[in-house]
Amino acid sequence: MMQLQGKTALITGAARGIGLAFAKAYVAEGARVAIADIDLDRARAAAAEIGDAAVAVRMDVSDQASIDSAVGETVDRLGQIDILINNAAIFTAAPIAEITRADYDRVFDINVAGTLFTMQAVAGHMIERGIKGRIINMASQAGRRGESLVAVYCASKAAVISLTQSAGLNLIGHGINVNAIAPGVVDGEHWEGVDAFFAKYEGKAPGQKKKEVGQAVPYGRMGTAEDLTGMAVFLASDAADYIVAQTYNVDGGNWMS
Ligand code: NAD
Repeated sequence: MMQLQGKTALITGAARGIGLAFAKAYVAEGARVAIADIDLDRARAAAAEIGDAAVAVRMDVSDQASIDSAVGETVDRLGQIDILINNAAIFTAAPIAEITRADYDRVFDINVAGTLFTMQAVAGHMIERGIKGRIINMASQAGRRGESLVAVYCASKAAVISLTQSAGLNLIGHGINVNAIAPGVVDGEHWEGVDAFFAKYEGKAPGQKKKEVGQAVPYGRMGTAEDLTGMAVFLASDAADYIVAQTYNVDGGNWMS
């Protein structure tokens, strides 16, 4: 039986990577999805690849007007929103002495304020319509522990875990379950950027950091976006109805909590 038959989902940052894998997995389970991304061309290409069950929506999660218009457009085109995945995020790295305010503001605007105010907008819609919705936030193992060169991104993901707890407690009173997924190291374009930061600050050859983190995973390799789809489907399904305010590690054994 398909687990998300008839459901609709708004997935931010879904033009590529993990968000795109979630969109495909949701459609395979019977849902219709809005691929919401700041890169509209790529969102359109992704939606076209998926077919009729997907629509592309322009959305910049760091801009309140864009959040409001993207949520409105998704409701217009899909009818309503049953599931939100707050997946859009950016990575940055620098030693403490070199962190800039501009970089901090950009990361927190997208990763933290983007998550909070997209939850607010979609929860408002769910409450107004009496939808017993699901919200899934993308945290990270980076939110479980600080890292020497990754202060700002780690802090942003710790904030996502905390927001998941508070929003989970607040919104379950409306029948809306909020939970999060904390991936470890997931291969894809995102990690090309991460690898480049470590090449710069740790003097590693390109590709070296990526190889090292993959070998260090207890499972024996880096994750793929597809390794995460089972948890994303489960958290949106009826089977997860009693799960509230949790963050699940899906990381091949990197973190235990
Ligand atoms: P990615 O960089 O491949 O994709 C991110 C997407 O978000 C892109 O399509 C990008 O255009 C979009 N985006 C960026 N800024 C945006 C904005 N302001 N508004 C809307 N969209 C925006 O990343 P990914 O690897 O697919 O990661 C997805 C999520 O998983 C992120 O929250 C990331 O922090 C988290 N995560 C990833 C890893 C990993 O190793 N890849 C590990 C832990 C957590």
